[in-house]
Amino acid sequence: MTISPSAGYERQAIIDLDALRHNVRHFVDIAHPARVMAVVKADGYGHGAIQCARAAVEAGAAWLGVAHLSEALELRAAGIDAPVLAWLHTPSSPFPAAVEAGVDIGVSGWELDHVVAAARELERPARVHLKIDTGLGRNGCPPEKWEALVSSAMEHQEEGLLRVVGIFSHFAVADEPEREETDSQIERFREAVAVAEDAGVDVEVRHMANTPATLSRPDSHFDLVRVGAGIFGLSPFAGQKSAELGLRPAMTLKATVAGCKEVPAGQGVSYGLRYTTTEPTTLALVPLGYADGVPRASDGGPVAIDGKRYQVSGRIAMDQLVVDLKTNGIADTEKSVLGHDAVLFGGGPDDPGADDWAEAANTINYEIVTRIGSRVPRIYVGETE
Ligand SMILES: *Cc1c(COP(=O)(O)O)cnc(C)c1O
Repeated sequence: MTISPSAGYERQAIIDLDALRHNVRHFVDIAHPARVMAVVKADGYGHGAIQCARAAVEAGAAWLGVAHLSEALELRAAGIDAPVLAWLHTPSSPFPAAVEAGVDIGVSGWELDHVVAAARELERPARVHLKIDTGLGRNGCPPEKWEALVSSAMEHQEEGLLRVVGIFSHFAVADEPEREETDSQIERFREAVAVAEDAGVDVEVRHMANTPATLSRPDSHFDLVRVGAGIFGLSPFAGQKSAELGLRPAMTLKATVAGCKEVPAGQGVSYGLRYTTTEPTTLALVPLGYADGVPRASDGGPVAIDGKRYQVSGRIAMDQLVVDLKTNGIADTEKSVLGHDAVLFGGGPDDPGADDWAEAANTINYEIVTRIGSRVPRIYVGETE
């Protein structure tokens, strides 16, 4: 079924798969000869995991990455058979289903027993990537326990219960390229790889880099880079826009203006009456609110209507927000924008960016796109048959 992007949709997140493919190809070039793992966790950072995974593979991503085994199983259920790694588990995670589906499992320690039990039961070797904590302090095996984890994994490999496919780690401050902790993380990773190689591990892929490290630290590429934000066209660096990095934002969030009215000076606007008009003006009502993922905490987020840039005026409510149609202090009166598009952020040259919303909400662009709610349909453009 083909749906023209705006037909009938009052709210929509348009996902431009051509932009996503462009971004993936860009990372394939940057990372070469290392390969690219497209990270599509959290429903593809809010863009739709399955559609984005397919587009990423079409554009040359050799691997897919997700946080949860359940996310990997959803990709498999959709018929996606590229190698896929999941790295965040609990004792109740579906290890047997993952082994059965040929999902690669990140192992930091305790998971090994679960993986081995599943492999034994299924009589099928599990595919494992051992994770070393090089300084982030989340999961990952502490360096003191690394040798023991490696040798335990090797024993199980010799029994035919698993294959150690990879060794990996994750950066803490790669988005701040001037910080020196990244150097010591790379150093610790090299040491961990050496320990594993001494123990006879022969891995297919060593991997460490996320989007910011892929862009700023070629010495962290190893055999594979794990790129999330970048493939969706988000800049991981504060103060650097995606266009400066050669990336194209894949998501445009927009809604149809639901109301437009002229008001006098002194009109209070939205809950708390935190905004009052200072002169006669026109207010446009946009049917997107915090239930749709527009952060209530943001202050003066940008909204583009008919190519002009305005700001949210007053509190963002659950379902709606108000825009005073005023630019550079001058009110647009007698202007009706009822039914026109209001763009909160997008990939067009004149669109505000997710970065602008992140700044208004004192957060990062990753959070803006991943929190767009389920009431906003994702509409895909650039889908291949
Ligand atoms: C989310 C995640 C990534 C991708 O990070 P980006 O900064 O979005 O590229 C890579 N590796 C791991 C372990 C992650 O959790």
